[in-house]
Amino acid sequence: MPAGCYIDGVWVPTAATFEVTDPATRKVVGVAADAGPELASTAIGAAHGAFDKWADWTAQDRAEVMRRISAELLARLDHIADVIVSEQGKPRAQAIFEVRYATQWLGWFAEEGRRAYGEVVPSHVPGKRLIVQQKPLGVAVAVTPWNFPLAMIVRKLAPAMAAGCTMVVKPAEQTPLSAVALFQAIERADVPEGVCNLVTSSSPGSLAAPLLEDPRVRKITFTGSTEVGKLLVRASATNLARVSLELGGQAPFIVFDDADLDAAVEGALMSKFQVNGQSCLCANRIFVQDAVAKDFTARLAAAVSKLKVGAGAEEGVDVGPLIDDAGLQKVEAHVADALARGANVETGGGRAVANPDGCFFEPTVLSGCTDEMMCASDETFGPVAPVLTFQTEAEVITRANHTRYGLAAYVYTRDLGRAMRASERLEFGMVGVNDPMPASPTAPFGGFKESGLGREGGHDGLEAFLEKKLVSFVC
Ligand code: NAD
Repeated sequence: MPAGCYIDGVWVPTAATFEVTDPATRKVVGVAADAGPELASTAIGAAHGAFDKWADWTAQDRAEVMRRISAELLARLDHIADVIVSEQGKPRAQAIFEVRYATQWLGWFAEEGRRAYGEVVPSHVPGKRLIVQQKPLGVAVAVTPWNFPLAMIVRKLAPAMAAGCTMVVKPAEQTPLSAVALFQAIERADVPEGVCNLVTSSSPGSLAAPLLEDPRVRKITFTGSTEVGKLLVRASATNLARVSLELGGQAPFIVFDDADLDAAVEGALMSKFQVNGQSCLCANRIFVQDAVAKDFTARLAAAVSKLKVGAGAEEGVDVGPLIDDAGLQKVEAHVADALARGANVETGGGRAVANPDGCFFEPTVLSGCTDEMMCASDETFGPVAPVLTFQTEAEVITRANHTRYGLAAYVYTRDLGRAMRASERLEFGMVGVNDPMPASPTAPFGGFKESGLGREGGHDGLEAFLEKKLVSFVC
């Protein structure tokens, strides 16, 4: 793999590089270019230089380029999945799903780019014609996380390209190799020089100013923690670049006493343990109505105890390692806090001793949890399912909403009225009713409150890279 940054259609080597490790073994699996502020600035220059031409291309022609990237990703599906597994740790089947999911975003936005319609608006005075045009914003900078190291980039790149924006991508330092694999596909797909640029770095803070405060940058799109998101908003104020933020979550997963418990257990398993609990959509607080709490908890613990833990490359593995030791320590702290405050371990509860070389934690179910525990008030980002009980619909909605986050929520019930009321009252950007995966490239994805600003996906995802221009004619 090239240890360089991809700028203006070529791989630019850097004097410094940094090591990338496999969280399943803590061994080095590759090196990445360690770009400094100057190279970041060069990348912005390349994107700026390419913008006018790319913006002038027709949406159909841009769509063709995006379809070629998608084809290149699928042609190297196995290789790219291996790269994701080696630095992120997720099971191989989930890595393959991620590559396919990324291509769905390219496919959707290749089509949606054709629908950046303007408007002809009736004037308030005679003799005037008001035309509203949709214009691409300009150079966009994407800062992305490690949990979906390919898909989180493509979710930004696809609408940006479709809208006619050019882009500089800065991936997470834990997972730069997946980004490199994507840019190899971009290189092979003959994307015009400067349209897509990649800058990898081990010290994101040092690139914040050159990437985010450059006046040539008109859009900042970020997925990551709420804390870093707030830093980016401050940086964007320098030039009032437009900002989209996909941030942390604290998802309630509510199981009412009339729910199909098999479906609820299966849904909780999927929502909680996908990417080992390291997804912004993950169920973080599992609220179960009193009458079914014992039954649900026993079934969930039985299912969780059967999950196979191991390196993502191993056959049949359900749950991989955490991304690094900091992630592991956070999960341990949340479990220790819950136990100290009276929670019970139903299954799991500690480091996976069979896998001492990597950052493994046993898939865990805790019962007797309360709202004050860290695992129920902070994003655990690990394989811990805290079960809390409730009595009434009104009570659980109030408790579920009692968080600074508002990304995803889940409701399991067979009562249509209850489903309607709950989905309307939950203060979250996405509500899955008997659905553990309420995300789609075709629909708005994003959070209320401190979970973000703006939406990715659907037509809103395209609008996030467009600006309206009014042209007023007197004629
Ligand atoms: P993070 O905020 O630490 O890092 C995200 C990105 O920001 C990385 O590229 C990192 O290098 C960069 N970064 C860190 N400090 C920076 C700084 N000072 N200046 C500029 N860039 C900086 O988040 P993470 O730990 O990589 O990801 C986990 C978080 O992301 C969780 O909170 C999770 O919920 C959230 N997330 C949200 C979504 C969503 O769509 N809402 C999706 C995935 C992950």
